[in-house]
Amino acid sequence: MNADLVVVGSGLFGLTVAERCARDLGLRVLVLERRDHIGGNAYSAPDPETGIEVHVYGTHLFHTSNALVWEYAGRFTSFTPYEHRVYTIFKGQVYPMPINLATICAFYGRALSPGQARDLVARHAVPVAEPRNLEEKAVSLIGRPLYEALIQGYTAKQWQTDPRDLPAEIITRLPVRYTFDGRYFDDTYQGLPSDGYTAWLERMADHPRIEVRAGTDFFDVRDRIAGAVPIVYTGPLDRYFGHAEGELSWRTLDFTVEVAPTPDYQGTAVMNYADADVPWTRVHEFRHLHPERHWYPRDSTVVMREYSRPAARDDEPYYPVNAPADRARLLRYRELARREPGVFFGGRLGTYAYLDMHMAIGAALSMYRNRLRPLFGRR
Ligand code: FAD
Repeated sequence: MNADLVVVGSGLFGLTVAERCARDLGLRVLVLERRDHIGGNAYSAPDPETGIEVHVYGTHLFHTSNALVWEYAGRFTSFTPYEHRVYTIFKGQVYPMPINLATICAFYGRALSPGQARDLVARHAVPVAEPRNLEEKAVSLIGRPLYEALIQGYTAKQWQTDPRDLPAEIITRLPVRYTFDGRYFDDTYQGLPSDGYTAWLERMADHPRIEVRAGTDFFDVRDRIAGAVPIVYTGPLDRYFGHAEGELSWRTLDFTVEVAPTPDYQGTAVMNYADADVPWTRVHEFRHLHPERHWYPRDSTVVMREYSRPAARDDEPYYPVNAPADRARLLRYRELARREPGVFFGGRLGTYAYLDMHMAIGAALSMYRNRLRPLFGRR
């Protein structure tokens, strides 16, 4: 093997490490990727019929307040000025999310000043010193009417569990904005890669000292690699150790994609469905992410429905469940990881943490600066 470093996984964490080590340290980097494409969950591809860019693993919005991450990402792509907005359908009405002044006015059916809305929400909220479950926590923050409309059914579908049986810690807060600012993120920098996610990700990997082997599972070649050179591992933490401490639990998503024969299906990129009797949680319509792409067809659109459920071992792990049993296991796995010589664990799967893209890039830049550069003799 002609490599100085092996990176397992070509998501944004793995690609950032590979790019920095190849370009800045002059290392030869071998990237192993289990899937047949690079980019991890940020990967996108044009729909074959319409050419509309489909975010294959769910809509991905880039947003950060970290100037270093924004500058780094900007080396590989320019960004459109897209700012994300989300709406929720409940009992035939549409409400903007996260909850803001427009949501509260629409929900209570009248014009309210910020102060009036604040008083109204506070009047309905039922403070509890130690909420015993998610429902009690949510009702203590926003009151029962808003909870029952916008949170209860949606959360039950996301977790396939009654919110009264979910731990209160799942939500630390439910953001309520007492302005008409309906943007989903309030980060300093936000946008979408102008020529798509995959062009961005491919540019990161496009270096003569980086070799990407797609369609290669690390565990199929582990015997030939282990111990030879340092490894940055961004696959599932429990799998690395043969599930010795038990399985860490995840939620997975199922997606169904269709081309709808209409110029515009729902008027926005992401619509949440809060009614418990609608089986999907969200509908994504990708054309709205790029209003500047005038070449998208005018007679059809790509629509993707999202369904949520607990992940079995062979499913794609999407969101860590992080139940008390998981947290206890995670501590034991972290101890095993700390003692594993020559292996650096990182990324969403390798640390069992939900990471947005900017967090994955930021964490990879830190690992590069604080651990890999010193390891390879540069400070
Ligand atoms: P990943 O992107 O998961 O990459 C890990 C890679 O490792 C994968 O390609 C996997 O195939 C590979 N791998 C695993 N095991 C092996 C193995 N044994 N051998 C070889 N390869 C292996 N972030 C945002 O900033 N904005 C969003 O709007 C957003 N939306 C999201 C929506 C969903 C549904 C999900 C699940 C995530 C979303 N994210 C979003 C987060 C984002 O997709 C990534 O999780 C984040 O960029 C972390 O990247 P990563 O490299 O750590 O992990």
